[in-house]
Amino acid sequence: MRKKFAVGIDLGATNVKYGLISSDGKVLYGTLQPLPESKNRRRVWEVIHSAMAEVLNRAQSQKRKISHIGIGSPGTVNFLTGKVQGFSPNLPFWIGVNLKQGINRRFPEYEVFADNDANVMALAEYQLGAGRGFKDILCLTLGTGIGGGLILNGKLYRGSRYFGGEFGHMPIRYQGRRCLCGGKGCVEAYASVPALLREIRSLLRRRRDSVLKDWLRGDSKKLTSQLVMEAFKLGDEVATEAVDRLVEALAAGIVGVVNLLNPEAVIIGGGLADSGEVFIKRIRMAVRERGMSSNTRGLKILRAKLGNRAGFIGAALLGWQRGKESQR
Ligand SMILES: [Zn+2]
Repeated sequence: MRKKFAVGIDLGATNVKYGLISSDGKVLYGTLQPLPESKNRRRVWEVIHSAMAEVLNRAQSQKRKISHIGIGSPGTVNFLTGKVQGFSPNLPFWIGVNLKQGINRRFPEYEVFADNDANVMALAEYQLGAGRGFKDILCLTLGTGIGGGLILNGKLYRGSRYFGGEFGHMPIRYQGRRCLCGGKGCVEAYASVPALLREIRSLLRRRRDSVLKDWLRGDSKKLTSQLVMEAFKLGDEVATEAVDRLVEALAAGIVGVVNLLNPEAVIIGGGLADSGEVFIKRIRMAVRERGMSSNTRGLKILRAKLGNRAGFIGAALLGWQRGKESQR
């Protein structure tokens, strides 16, 4: 059989990652274009269209025939129509956009597939990354927000209104903090990067000793999750306390999903997971401690493998899913 090729696009809050993928899962090309500081719909479309023009030219010069285009986007995405629904705190103006129409407006000759960014990441990890060989997995991305994607019985689970797998908005404290989604006590309000930084700032006001104080030299604006995770790996007490709280919140959410669905593996990606195995090990321990042993004993908690390429790889894979026509 002749190889086929597809373009994958991953729209994030700060950039557009994209690439050329072959039907056997090889990334032939991958890069990114930054989004401008001040963003609106038109500017985001300009970047997406310019990225697509570039990758399509490249494919053409290499005589590779493109079978389809896939795009992953923040927000709830109607897989059938391509419309972005729900809410997206980092790109609020993007709600209401139609991804399929927006791409076909410039490139009418291609079939377009569109889905939520965490769903496409889950699909990529399931087919080509840490989820290979499993049939039931939960995939999480830990960053500014917390994304979730569910693969059940080998298929992406989208739910009745495409909101399925939204792990970040599972309540873990029924009278807890308000979340940006309107709910209360969501995992995202305790285990996202902004929650982590908030915790650190509050701890630093009360504690004297922390390597973070030396690094920041009084300028708390310089605080990033990368610095916190560096300090955590060095055993800094403040960083460790904040990371442990985040891990506890995350573990509570994971145990909830695991008790409901009994998946084989939980795969963790996104910025915070880049800090490595120490962090993942912590999550593993917290889940074992909380969960029912009959359920968590065989559960694998793994770090995502495809890194920040998972989004555009998964977006390209959307068009090659078996039985995709019957999927909601
Ligand atoms: Zn929420």
